[in-house]
Amino acid sequence: MNKVILPGSTIGIIGGGQLGKMLAIAAKQMGYKISVLDPIKNGPCSAIADFEINTEFYDIKGLRQLLDVSDVVTYEFENIPGEILKDLDGYGYIPQGFIPLSISQNRVIEKNAINDCGFKTTPFAVINSKDDLKTAIKTIGLPAVLKTCTGGYDGKGQVVLKKNTDVDKCFNLVTKNDCILEKFVSFKKEISVIVTRSTDGEDSTFPVSENIHKNNILYQTIVPARITESLALKAQQLAINLMRKLNFIGTLAIEMFITEDDDLLINEIAPRPHNTGHYTIEGCYTSQFEQHIRAICGLKLGNTSLRQPTVMINILGQNLKYIEDFIKNSQFSNAKIHLYGKREPKLNRKMGHITFIDRNQKILLENINKFFNIYKEW
Ligand code: AMP
Repeated sequence: MNKVILPGSTIGIIGGGQLGKMLAIAAKQMGYKISVLDPIKNGPCSAIADFEINTEFYDIKGLRQLLDVSDVVTYEFENIPGEILKDLDGYGYIPQGFIPLSISQNRVIEKNAINDCGFKTTPFAVINSKDDLKTAIKTIGLPAVLKTCTGGYDGKGQVVLKKNTDVDKCFNLVTKNDCILEKFVSFKKEISVIVTRSTDGEDSTFPVSENIHKNNILYQTIVPARITESLALKAQQLAINLMRKLNFIGTLAIEMFITEDDDLLINEIAPRPHNTGHYTIEGCYTSQFEQHIRAICGLKLGNTSLRQPTVMINILGQNLKYIEDFIKNSQFSNAKIHLYGKREPKLNRKMGHITFIDRNQKILLENINKFFNIYKEW
């Protein structure tokens, strides 16, 4: 029987960053209470939460405390140590379970799981030594991308190899970490699909987003993605099929490359709301955050249709210097600013985002050009 968690109950969130904050805002609007666990006091989510627990993610006592005060627990943070998760098995109500985390935490397990479900990833080889790397270059070919199996994000723990002599600059990474070598895909576009599945088995996808990265960090999300309708439908169907085959509950973000011959290769999956889905707050009838809350609480899912074309632009630490001018003088009256409330701005740290909307995608994209003409170094 589907377990329904009604408003008035407490939703616990492991991880108190911006994703936790936006989940908490959506849940609060629906009448839930929020508890959050994060090692850092007064992070973005704690401004919204009713209870805050500050322990490390590997602190079993802290995690149990969160489960004790919550009617349902979810996570916005992927790298909770696997052995801790096993210890928590059966304690409290975590409808997503921890299998999605153990899969997405490790690139080899993730790619094997995707391939086992019958979906394509970039060709890859497992690298545990310098010799593995030399052998893999022969089979995978160059250019290729070396990535650490765990812990990497926003391009951290990654090296692009263009020529054989580049191998030397990778030895440090390879000797200290388990890695994979991926073929460098000369993709036409990067897209992603957010899929949600409720404890009742209902599922939905959001419109496909087109993602532009700069220095491996998400820079812009454009929705609708400028791809054919049939390719968009194929990507959404792939997302639903993968979610069902993996038997996940909650949210799954699936990042894909569109190859030169319109094939879809899955690059990465994340079992949580995702930066490429932030556009849904203003862009869709239901946001990815509300949909996630509905899914884990066993409620009926919301309508994910696009209300109007949307562009989301990330505000990184180095972009903050423009924000005062943007807020005071903005000629973009359809722009919505989100600042996460992180205390320490750092280079490449995600501090917030701006969502631009317009009924007409052509006008919207012209406005985005105007924006980048004003803030040239953004
Ligand atoms: P990741 O951390 O795997 O999401 O990589 C961050 C970004 O680096 C991706 O969004 C791509 O823009 C780029 N990238 C990663 N892997 C590859 C690849 N195999 N081929 C081409 N570009 C890649």
